Amino acid sequence: MDKESYYALLESKFLTYREYASIPVRDNGDPLVSIGPEFEGKVANYESMRPYTGDSIYVRSQLIPMLISARKVLKTVFPDYDLKVVCGYRHPEIQEKTFASHLEKIQAEDPSLKGDDLKEAVHRFVAVPEVAGHPTGGAVDVMLIDSAGNDLNMGTSIEDSKDSYVHSPFIDKDVWHRRQILRTSMLQAGFAPTDSEWWHFSYGDREWAKYYNQSAALFEQLRFQL
Ligand SMILES: [Zn+2]
Repeated sequence: MDKESYYALLESKFLTYREYASIPVRDNGDPLVSIGPEFEGKVANYESMRPYTGDSIYVRSQLIPMLISARKVLKTVFPDYDLKVVCGYRHPEIQEKTFASHLEKIQAEDPSLKGDDLKEAVHRFVAVPEVAGHPTGGAVDVMLIDSAGNDLNMGTSIEDSKDSYVHSPFIDKDVWHRRQILRTSMLQAGFAPTDSEWWHFSYGDREWAKYYNQSAALFEQLRFQL
């Protein structure tokens, strides 16, 4: 099967905007906290989040022991590997801006798209803000690093490329294995994966609820700024 058809097949299994939107949320009130030194891996905040939370990455407090546990699982099997968290809570303003610019682009390409169909088309590239995981504080972007702190080759950087699909067979065998190692460590700690992005995992958001067949998500979107 050629690359384009294989990726189309993988895409057909991804969650749609409508699937996310159908999941109710009952926020459990778990507070946002910064990932502190109790997580012994690396933390490096995105430039775009600095105006909101500085150098710190915030997540719902329930994620802290899970991140510690994922790192422990990883280090038990691969002592030379470590985890680096590069994104947690994302202010909805950032998500809204990115979404709006993609929406404009897609609407220009196909002016017949309207309402939920338009949202669905944009959602394939950027999560619709009201269902997105990062603004809930329940989603994290994580990478593997070596003992010297260097990023390990995961096939792509954190960007919008189809080679970032976790199960892409069009990547190095070593890279494929590293993605599975990261995924297994995070899943063992209770996170849900995203098949379209090897770095994205979540707990308590709609994606997590869908993956683990929960009747509702635990975390609603928040507007938080230091
Ligand atoms: Zn993410």
